[in-house]
Amino acid sequence: MERLKVRAACLIGWPAAHSRSPLIHHYWLRQLDIAGGYSIEAVPPEGLAEFVLHLSSHGFVGANVTIPHKERALALSQPDRRAAAVGAANTLWYDGGQLRATNTDVEGFINNLDACAPGWEATRDALVLGAGGASRAVVFGLIERGIKRVHLANRTLLRAHGLADQLGGDVRVVPWAAVVDLLPRAGLLVNTTPLGMHGQRQLDIDLGLLPASAVVADLVYVPLRTRLLAAAQARGLRTADGLGMLLHQAVRGFELWFGKRPEITPELRALVEADLAKH
Ligand code: NAP
Repeated sequence: MERLKVRAACLIGWPAAHSRSPLIHHYWLRQLDIAGGYSIEAVPPEGLAEFVLHLSSHGFVGANVTIPHKERALALSQPDRRAAAVGAANTLWYDGGQLRATNTDVEGFINNLDACAPGWEATRDALVLGAGGASRAVVFGLIERGIKRVHLANRTLLRAHGLADQLGGDVRVVPWAAVVDLLPRAGLLVNTTPLGMHGQRQLDIDLGLLPASAVVADLVYVPLRTRLLAAAQARGLRTADGLGMLLHQAVRGFELWFGKRPEITPELRALVEADLAKH
């Protein structure tokens, strides 16, 4: 088989959805002159265990995992601390013959913040909106980085309590209505909900209430410049966008599969931006 000749990784999902991961990894393979591949593999839920447990005989040195397989992939592999804490695996690789898993959304979020807003971690209070899967990675990253207090607002309070109980740390669940009172002391505001994405409602938040030193991060990247980020920039606040997180989360997988740490260049960002503009 063609794919056995080169090191190859893939994205496992169902159904096979459009993804920017092949574009990102092919760019890095070209740039680093590595004879490798990255494909999208549509694997139905009933075929997941066989596919993951025999990943190498399918021709792959590792994989990304996406909806709806992230939780089951965790159970089929040996997760690291991050994947276990987040409760979902998005990256699989072999380590001495053992199939390992991690969750690179944690470092994707944190490394993007470091790149866009150095010193952001000086804040005592972070305010996170949303308590879904992406929020678990964000909140875990903030705790791991030593942020003192994480205020977590979600439409469904029970889900936010579940997240806080699971992750430990000083995570304070607050009702959505309390966001307005927390803004004046939030040094970091993070939107992990899909609000502001094309086709969704906008977030209704008065950024004028944030301190002048605050940093605003949005996980949404369609559109690239969400209304939340535009409003933050108009106020002169530093921002970190969802595309930055997407690019930063891809770095570790590439390094684990192909042995070299790739760079996020302006050229790569422009390539993915152009692709986002098409869809
Ligand atoms: P998820 O598990 O479905 O969680 C969605 C969260 O948003 C939940 O807290 C949900 O609240 C809340 N929410 C949804 N619709 C809402 C509404 N109309 N009003 C208020 N709250 C609402 O999704 P996810 O996997 O965490 O993804 C969330 C977003 O992050 C998506 O836009 C995704 O594309 C983005 N993301 C980006 C990256 C990146 O690399 N940039 C990585 C991962 C995810 P309830 O609990 O009340 O339902």
